[in-house]
Amino acid sequence: MKFVDEFRDQAVAAALARRIAEEAGDRHWKIMEVCGGHTHTIYKYGIEDLLPPNVELVHGPGCPVCVIPMGRVDDGIAVASTPGVIFTCFGDMMRVPGSRGSLLDAKAQGADVRMVYSPLDALRLAYQNPEREVVFYAIGFETTAPSTALTLLRAAEEQVPNFSIFCNHVMIIPPIKAILDSPDLRLDGFLGPGHVSAVIGIRPYDFVAQRYHKPVVVTGFEPLDILQGVHMVIRQVLEGRCEVENQYTRIVAADGNPRALEVIRRAFKLRPHFEWRGLGFISLSALAIREEYARYDAELRFEVPGVRVADPKACQCGEVLKGVLKPWECKVFGTACTPETPIGTCMVSSEGACAAYYNFGRFSRADSRLTVLQPEAPNARQ
Ligand code: SF4
Repeated sequence: MKFVDEFRDQAVAAALARRIAEEAGDRHWKIMEVCGGHTHTIYKYGIEDLLPPNVELVHGPGCPVCVIPMGRVDDGIAVASTPGVIFTCFGDMMRVPGSRGSLLDAKAQGADVRMVYSPLDALRLAYQNPEREVVFYAIGFETTAPSTALTLLRAAEEQVPNFSIFCNHVMIIPPIKAILDSPDLRLDGFLGPGHVSAVIGIRPYDFVAQRYHKPVVVTGFEPLDILQGVHMVIRQVLEGRCEVENQYTRIVAADGNPRALEVIRRAFKLRPHFEWRGLGFISLSALAIREEYARYDAELRFEVPGVRVADPKACQCGEVLKGVLKPWECKVFGTACTPETPIGTCMVSSEGACAAYYNFGRFSRADSRLTVLQPEAPNARQ
């Protein structure tokens, strides 16, 4: 398959891994993959087992579901429990625990909570159910914000009276800055998020190289993308360079996607601050619906508690999201907290570090190195 098989070639992967091992030398390297999609690939394909032990990959905050705090889940459940409401969200979001259960629990108790694949599906439900209020619970980084923005603009243009959006969109640059300002973590560089960068481009990361003197390599999501991204970070450090490089040129343009950025600007404004799961409040890190579209803002149309809820004591998602702890170092990993019974958000989404490690990484790869890179059987792809 074009653009897939060639990025899973095991001979190339082995050669690249050897080269990384030679050039990494004896020093310890710590490189953060910002995006949850990277984390998923790293565990699914056993990338950590291909790398030498002194090259450590640290998981970052780029999983959209993982960063939603419990209070915002409670707010969503309050809206979903309002009589007459059809509450819609992406599938992962339904299982995220709030202080008194998840949206899935609310559904079991009678709330009309429905999974959708896009905000346009939610808008369609509004057309089909004119006597009901349809709410879309929007989450995600700049990757998904354009589709929410377009849906909002269409609802406004068509003056759909029974549709609104509960906006939880966040932005990637503020948490990267928060991590760089954190005294807990020493990093050699970043694998920049490929999907987000397809929208925002590579220039917003310039401050990481210029002010914090850390290399950033915007990286794709196939195994060879990750290995090449790691190699590019190491090369920059060894050559005394500190730049923003683009490994994912087949998708990411330097200036991103101007049309997507424009619809984000038309629909949303910056929130003064927003709470991130495990990272606390970060200034100017999230989006809210602009005043001119207030009638489509579910936070204004419905009663929401808006109360901050502390994470459960056992939960160490914050440390995992900041890359300070590995998933298996959390006390409840794999025992009280599993994908079936998640305590924290990182165990919910397939992009969450804990779920990715639980699903793929806990099995020893000592005997299966590289075999995981073999292409799937032809039938499976047809
Ligand atoms: S194991 Fe569960 S509680 Fe612990 S960090 Fe992961 S998701 Fe959070």
